Amino acid sequence: MSGRTHARACPERTCLGCRERAAKGDLLRIVAIEGECVPDPRGTLPGRGAYVHRTLVCLDLAVRRRAFPRAYRGRGPFDTADVRRFIEGGAG
Ligand SMILES: [Zn+2]
Repeated sequence: MSGRTHARACPERTCLGCRERAAKGDLLRIVAIEGECVPDPRGTLPGRGAYVHRTLVCLDLAVRRRAFPRAYRGRGPFDTADVRRFIEGGAG
């Protein structure tokens, strides 16, 4: 349905919150470092990354779905306070 023919140039990721696919650049990369979710807007931190839209709605959804432990294959709970602050700070 939605034209995918030109999508190759930009990699897509799935938002952990709303589960919609979006261009990687439209999502916020989040990595888990010692049980804490750390925002990685530049995509430079090592480790397994998870992606959410830069909105609290999607972050909350992801937390409620326990999507982070699943994404990181860890036990959690993962502290998302830093990510929340980052989004609240108007990074989007
Ligand atoms: Zn989303």
